[in-house]
Amino acid sequence: IIKFEKVIKRFGDITVLDELDFQVRKGEKVTIIGPSGSGKSTVLRILMTLETINDGVIHVAGKPLWHEEKDGRLVPAGEEHLREMRKEMGMVFQQFNLFPHMTVRRNITEAPVHVLGLSKAKAAERAEKYLDLVGLAEHADKFPSQLSGGQQQRVAIARALAMRPNIMLFDEPTSALDPELVGEVLNVIQRLAGEHDLTMLLVTHEMQFAKQISDRVCFFDKGRIVEEGPPEQVLVAPHETRTQEFLKGFI
Ligand code: ATP
Ligand code: MG
Repeated sequence: IIKFEKVIKRFGDITVLDELDFQVRKGEKVTIIGPSGSGKSTVLRILMTLETINDGVIHVAGKPLWHEEKDGRLVPAGEEHLREMRKEMGMVFQQFNLFPHMTVRRNITEAPVHVLGLSKAKAAERAEKYLDLVGLAEHADKFPSQLSGGQQQRVAIARALAMRPNIMLFDEPTSALDPELVGEVLNVIQRLAGEHDLTMLLVTHEMQFAKQISDRVCFFDKGRIVEEGPPEQVLVAPHETRTQEFLKGFI
């Protein structure tokens, strides 16, 4: 459902993604691990169209993401095409990125109303459903500042789900949380991982969690995949020296 082919991303002189080939199948739960600066967030941000690419082709759900077909050839994607493609994906960031001046309910209904064209009533119904799913049904009328970090992150997950994406992207969703709040967020993500049809791409340093939920783990270094495979391989008995070195930091 996601396919990167020889994707190059540069920021000035530095090459952040170096001819990256990377694929995720529909329904697959894939975890990306790797050192700081290896390009993990960039992969997700490119998928959300928050960053452009310099070269290569990306397909999402069978369609080119950064290109569109015109007269039988690929040309750079226009705003309309990008808008359509974004609907395939929902993203949860390390910093929850909720709208501070909106209630929890408004945070969740905003995009379904303005992007999908749902009625306010329908969107509110949806908000209720997903707030219930993340265990926050009774907090709909609060503002983000009245919630704990773990609760805010669960609202962010509900907000992404309310757009009914086929693909969920998580960028270190628990890194900004106090240790005692990590579990409640991981529990929600774990529950989502049980959904057969939902494709999940997760960047995390929670190795134990990654081992439990991933079908596949990809170790990134310097904008390339150094090693990938089932969690029992990559996280427990990695073949590559660089993976072994990286994991030593997590015991
Ligand atoms: P971390 O574990 O620290 O989150 P990461 O693997 O997510 O790291 P990226 O955020 O993808 O790494 O960044 C990869 C490289 O790109 C880094 O060297 C970073 O400094 C650089 N970079 C990212 N965004 C920008 C930007 N907007 N402008 C310039 N350089 C950037
Ligand atoms: Mg990052």
